Amino acid sequence: MVGLSVTDTIEIAKAGGGSRLSRDDIAELLSVRKKDEVSELFSAAGSVRDKVFGNKVFIYGFVYFSTHCRNNCAFCYYRRTNKSLPRYRKTEDDVLALSGSLKDAGINLVDLTMGEDPVMCADDYSELLKITRRVKEEIDISVMVSPGAVPKDSFVKFKEAGADWFACYQETYNRELFSKLRLEQDFDYRMDQKIWAKEAGLLTEDGIMVGLGETLEDRADSIIKMGSLGCQQIRAMTFVPQSGTPMENVKPTEPMDELISIAVMRLLYPDKLIPASLDVEGIAGLKSRLDAGANVITSIIPPNEDLAGVAQHDLDIDSGHRSVGHVLDMLDKMGKKAASCSEYESLLRRLKAGNA
Ligand code: SF4
Repeated sequence: MVGLSVTDTIEIAKAGGGSRLSRDDIAELLSVRKKDEVSELFSAAGSVRDKVFGNKVFIYGFVYFSTHCRNNCAFCYYRRTNKSLPRYRKTEDDVLALSGSLKDAGINLVDLTMGEDPVMCADDYSELLKITRRVKEEIDISVMVSPGAVPKDSFVKFKEAGADWFACYQETYNRELFSKLRLEQDFDYRMDQKIWAKEAGLLTEDGIMVGLGETLEDRADSIIKMGSLGCQQIRAMTFVPQSGTPMENVKPTEPMDELISIAVMRLLYPDKLIPASLDVEGIAGLKSRLDAGANVITSIIPPNEDLAGVAQHDLDIDSGHRSVGHVLDMLDKMGKKAASCSEYESLLRRLKAGNA
């Protein structure tokens, strides 16, 4: 809308008129950096989140069980051609034990994440399906699978195995930029993952990476697209340059860009789940992300289990600062409460009913 002030735009979104905002309005909001306008934006985002979710925050455990990958994404530490890292593949029993200990500690969901590991992709994902089924049945916890891009006929099998969520990050909806980042991969095939997952009855998560060379308009386009795909969870995460990759010398962007993206997503989509990832700034970045409107804490990793993060493979992990106990203490100090598993499951039932 022509001539709107930042305050007017925020007020329109806060009153539920986000769909009336144009791409330019959204890009304008994403450009906000004056201190008073940033505070206004975060305060509006926090208030729309609290109206829907109260002071409850959802907590996800991250089990990155295989760091092998057949792909070669330019930004990723675990890309196929990065020979400088030791890789691992956890056994089925390891994954079960890790999931069980995360559940005992109080998480709401286990995120089973892997690179596109040829061993796990073999035989129509039979090993991953088996792990998914066992975590669901033996641990009795909500499950997200993040296996990369999979063929259309696999989604119904993940659903049958007990997965609640399917996560697949596009990272950008600018096709040209995508082709430079997700090398040798098909833009539409990856976008269709979200559509096929939804058709199979799975909840879906999509995400963008901030600071990959995109413009504010690209960021606005991606946020609009993730909303129109009907993803129930959307994330924005800052790009962290990784050694051994073609992007290792790219100057990282300020974390503020991610925080503003979180706040804008929250204003446009009050009832979506929006993660505060611990993978960028570790536990130090939790409060700022929740203040910007996030309501899910992802990347909780048990200490001393030789598990890696994605963007920062070892940040705060073995110190235990990304463990559930430490996060619960921090939430308490912020006046927030971790949701129980039954509260989370009841949210998932509502989301699944809306998915039908
Ligand atoms: S981003 Fe995922 S698909 Fe791409 S190289 Fe890394 S692990 Fe593999």
